[in-house]
Amino acid sequence: MKNPKLFIGAKRLAQLPPYLFAELDRKKRQAVRSGRDVIDLGVGDPDMATPSLIIQRLRLEAARKETHRYPSYNGLQEFREVIADWFESRFSVPLDPNREVLVLIGSKEGLGHLPWALLDPGETAIIPNPAYPVYENGTLLAGGKPFRIPLLEEDRYLPDLEAIAPNMADAAKLLYLNYPNNPTGAVADADFFQSVVDWAVRYNVVICHDAAYTEIAFNGYRPPSLLSVAGAKKVGVEFHSLSKTFNMTGWRVGFAVGNADVIKALGEIKKNVDSGVFGAVQYAGIEALDHYSELIDDIRMVYQDRRDVLVEGLTRLGWKLHKTEATFYVWARPPVERSSTQLAERLLEETAIAVAPGVGFGTLGEGYIRFSLTNEKSRIEEAVDRIKKVGF
Ligand SMILES: *Cc1c(COP(=O)(O)O)cnc(C)c1O
Repeated sequence: MKNPKLFIGAKRLAQLPPYLFAELDRKKRQAVRSGRDVIDLGVGDPDMATPSLIIQRLRLEAARKETHRYPSYNGLQEFREVIADWFESRFSVPLDPNREVLVLIGSKEGLGHLPWALLDPGETAIIPNPAYPVYENGTLLAGGKPFRIPLLEEDRYLPDLEAIAPNMADAAKLLYLNYPNNPTGAVADADFFQSVVDWAVRYNVVICHDAAYTEIAFNGYRPPSLLSVAGAKKVGVEFHSLSKTFNMTGWRVGFAVGNADVIKALGEIKKNVDSGVFGAVQYAGIEALDHYSELIDDIRMVYQDRRDVLVEGLTRLGWKLHKTEATFYVWARPPVERSSTQLAERLLEETAIAVAPGVGFGTLGEGYIRFSLTNEKSRIEEAVDRIKKVGF
């Protein structure tokens, strides 16, 4: 029967878990409004400007009438070719720009639409706990069933796929992974990826690897691509983003690469719900990737400096954490026993520091706080001072 009320949401919306950061966001805004000097280490959104040569290219391209028309669905041919070239030089993985590359309106868009392309109602996607919330929410919106697997500190936040019951592994269609990892900052090496690919081939599961942070890595460490291991293209797709690499979160541009059938299926969904990325933004993306090596080191150094300040500061104050090798997050356990939400609220109330409570990324995030390095070094120093004064 038709719903009698006009403005009532579809049932699929009611399935979504509550947004755990909502109450904290409200308190943060309230603190700012009441004039407090809030240090925001909560959001994963770079505070630095997009490099000016990328902005210049956008200006130029935006003035050309050719870019004002609908872009091609899969992305500009030239952009896909530049992506394939960049990928090969960065990861030594060749890609066919026509079949193995798809331009996205930010990688979140692709990660969220992927379950629509792969899952029939009731089918299972395996999702880590804790994780970036889009994997679970995208699965739920598509009518799929999330099956959550633990990421544990003692396993360096790598899942134990052999611990998944064979009947569950057989039933699953999709596995989400993300390394370097948000929120934990954990990294994965090629041996781990090889074991994941072998497992996925054995059980016929598509691996969706979210690689948003492969370029934000420190002290010379360069995270590998899932696609660099043997057999990966049989089962794997990888999602990359210009957002974090080039301070371009607002521009909305990313790309998916890998298994041609999966890329094609995702492209089919997208063809029916969007019409691609603004052409001028795609040309700006070309500019970014073409100048990758001259831009990326400065960006890495800024975060590396900030990381050192925060990691050393918190460690001195008795917090338990690993020195982050990649991503701009520090995942830490405070020296006091409290729920992560209570802790985040206390930090905001007593020190005017905004953070993300670990439980917002899944039940196993309980007890942890995610600090984001997207604020100036001096502000991070100030944050450490404030935490020291209050004495957590
Ligand atoms: C920021 C982020 C994304 C989304 O990036 P966009 O390309 O801006 O959509 C995807 N995955 C993770 C883990 C992120 O932290």
